[in-house]
Amino acid sequence: MKRLFLAVMAFAVVLLASCNGGTAKQTTKSNTVEASVIVPIFNGDSAYNFVDKQVSFGPRVPNTAAHRACASWLADKLRSYGAEVVVQEAKLTAYTGEQLDARNIIAQFQPEKKRRVLLCAHWDSRPWADADPDPSNHRKPILGANDGGSGVGVLIEIARHLSMVPTNVGVDIILFDAEDYGTHAAETSTMENSWALGSQLWSRLPHNPNYNARYGILLDIVGAPDARFYREGISEHFASNIVDKVWKRAAELGYSDTFVNEEGGIVTDDHLYVNQFLGIPCIDIISHSKEDGGFGVYWHTMKDNMEWISAQTLKKVGQTVMTVIYNEK
Ligand SMILES: [Zn+2]
Repeated sequence: MKRLFLAVMAFAVVLLASCNGGTAKQTTKSNTVEASVIVPIFNGDSAYNFVDKQVSFGPRVPNTAAHRACASWLADKLRSYGAEVVVQEAKLTAYTGEQLDARNIIAQFQPEKKRRVLLCAHWDSRPWADADPDPSNHRKPILGANDGGSGVGVLIEIARHLSMVPTNVGVDIILFDAEDYGTHAAETSTMENSWALGSQLWSRLPHNPNYNARYGILLDIVGAPDARFYREGISEHFASNIVDKVWKRAAELGYSDTFVNEEGGIVTDDHLYVNQFLGIPCIDIISHSKEDGGFGVYWHTMKDNMEWISAQTLKKVGQTVMTVIYNEK
């Protein structure tokens, strides 16, 4: 996950090569007046509480009691909002050789609908604070309020609304496990595929073998007061029209300062495998600094706690995503 490459040229070249001339679009005039869509009001405080609840279990590191307890809470919560929940359990092999008891939690809203949208986030937290300024913390697990908890908090609040006001399309919320078990910073070489183990599994073996969705939106590190979301490179490569759609909605809502309509770096995250293995165009909304390529001073440190979570930022992300999905026909 989360290695950032500032050079996006390789992707840009592939992208240009794959562009065809484009076809002219015909529009037909119609007298029908479209009914305006009413999008529910996303509650940032409610999302904040859902982040706080996850953090209250402690670090959600695979093979721990806190991880198992939080998984049960997440599945029960999503069921309480009327979703059909499937928990995909598997033993996944970490780069350390450890067998991780992993659980992808899949919540299907209106599963009978063929037209679907996928929303996702990782729910595990990193087993090591390997970016902490204090070396004595480098083997301690982190709370992952922002890195993990924030995206899930937003999605649970969206689930609460889906239980009251259904969308036209079916919605699947997938909480991926074992995203953050990637190579420790002290290792001499990094294994790129040691990250995002849960999404690699699901993207190869989805809960429904014929699973499809129009597109996916991944949320990661979306809770900090100073969050800035740039157009991330892998998202641009596989799904630039979805990036357009989401950033346009954010601008309409007055959130252009947070959803900056400029290219950022490239982040290896769960969405890569959804794009690569399953062929579903999936974007990543992830906060990072364009200047230093980092994810914030708290990232992968003991400081990734509730002090870095802003209800206002969660609101901006949640309201944007809800405006997108409630407008799907
Ligand atoms: Zn992380």
